[in-house]
Amino acid sequence: MLHLPLDKLSDQPTPFYFYDLQLLHDTLAAVKNQIDGYPFRVHYALKANGNAVILNEISSSGFGADLVSGGELSAALAAGFKAQDITFSGVGKTDEEIIAGISSHICCFNVESVPELEVINALAGNMGMKAAVALRVNPDIDAHTHRYITTGTVHDKFGIELEALPQVAKMVCEMPNVNLRGLHFHIGSQITDMSPYEMLCERVNLLQEAFEQQGITLEIINVGGGLGVNYDNPSENLIPDFERYFNVFKRGLKLRKGQQVHFELGRSLVAQCGTLISKVLYVKENRDKKFVILDAGMTDLIRPALYQAYHKIENLTSQALATETYDVVGPVCESSDVFARDQELPITHRGDIIALRTAGAYGESMASRYNMRRLPATLFSEKK
Ligand SMILES: *Cc1c(COP(=O)(O)O)cnc(C)c1O
Repeated sequence: MLHLPLDKLSDQPTPFYFYDLQLLHDTLAAVKNQIDGYPFRVHYALKANGNAVILNEISSSGFGADLVSGGELSAALAAGFKAQDITFSGVGKTDEEIIAGISSHICCFNVESVPELEVINALAGNMGMKAAVALRVNPDIDAHTHRYITTGTVHDKFGIELEALPQVAKMVCEMPNVNLRGLHFHIGSQITDMSPYEMLCERVNLLQEAFEQQGITLEIINVGGGLGVNYDNPSENLIPDFERYFNVFKRGLKLRKGQQVHFELGRSLVAQCGTLISKVLYVKENRDKKFVILDAGMTDLIRPALYQAYHKIENLTSQALATETYDVVGPVCESSDVFARDQELPITHRGDIIALRTAGAYGESMASRYNMRRLPATLFSEKK
C-alpha cells in the first residue's frame, strides 16, 4: 500500500500525479552505489518524465541526460544538466535540432542513418564546427518485450544495420566535420530478463574487434536503457535490481583502456516514484459487469490504452473488507480508455480515492489534452 498524506491529498482537485521525491533520491543513490569506481556514466532519458522538479533532482545528483528533441534539450539545459553530459538520440532529428545540439557542444549525437550523418556533417561545416557522433547500431537482438517497445531488431526503424556498419564507419572517418566518438545501442524498454543484455555485451565485444581491425578506436560504448520495473507488485519492488543489471555489463563487456560506458536509463529511475491519484465519479452496473468510472483517463496515463500495460490499482479510502470485480475505466470517449478489466477491489463508491501505481515514467510526459481536458496537476512529497 502506498503511504500518502491522505489528509492533505483529499483537498487536492483530482486527477494529479503524486511524486515521492525521497524514493527518487533513494533510487538515484542506488544507481550511484553500483557505478561508483567504474568508468560508467548514466544519462537519464528525459522522455520518461520531463517534469522540472524531477529533472532538477536528477541533474543535481550528477547524472547526464539523453534527449530525443530540441524541446528536451532546452529543458535539460534549464534543469542544469551539463552540455558535455548530454547525448541526443532519435531517428528524425530536424535541422533546427541538430544546429541547437552542435552550438550547445553536447557530448554527441546518436546517429541513426547515413542521410542523418550527411546532414550533420553539412550543418556542422556551415557553422565552422565539428559535431561529435556515436553510431547507433541495430544489433538485431529481440528484447522479448512488447512489440511497440522493442527497438533492436531488423524489423524496427532504429539504428544502422550490422552489415552496413564497416562501410558507414569508413564514411564517418572521411567526413571533415564529424568526429566519431563511439557506438550506441538501445534494444528496447521494460526489459526484465537480463539475457538480451548479455547478448548485447557479446555483440559489442565482437564489434570492438572489427572496429580495431579497421583502425578505429572508440571512446564511448553506449548500451542504451530499457531496464524494466515491477508493475505488478510495486510496494515490494520500489527500487529496481540495479546490481543485477550493472553486473551484466561489469562482467560482459571487454573494455579498452580509457573507454567509457554510457547508460540511458529512463523508466527504471522514475517509474516507481510516481502515482496517478484519481477520484471515483460513478460506479455503474450493467447486466453482467460493474464499472468504476474515474476522473482520470487515457489523457492522463495512456500506457494501458497504448500498450495494454497494467498499473496496479489501489482504493485508498474504502474501508470495506469485502471485494468486488470491476472494470476500471476513464471518462474519455474512446473504448480503449480502460485502466484494467476484471479488477478486484474493495467495494468501491463514488468519491473514493484511487491510486494508479508505477506511473512516474511515460505517464505525465505522455499526457494530452484530447477531449479538451486539462493536463494532470502535480504534487510532490517532502524529502526526508
Ligand atoms: C526511450 C529511450 C531510452 C530510455 O528507455 P527506458 O526504457 O525508459 O529506460 C534510452 N535510450 C533511447 C535511445 C531511447 O529512445
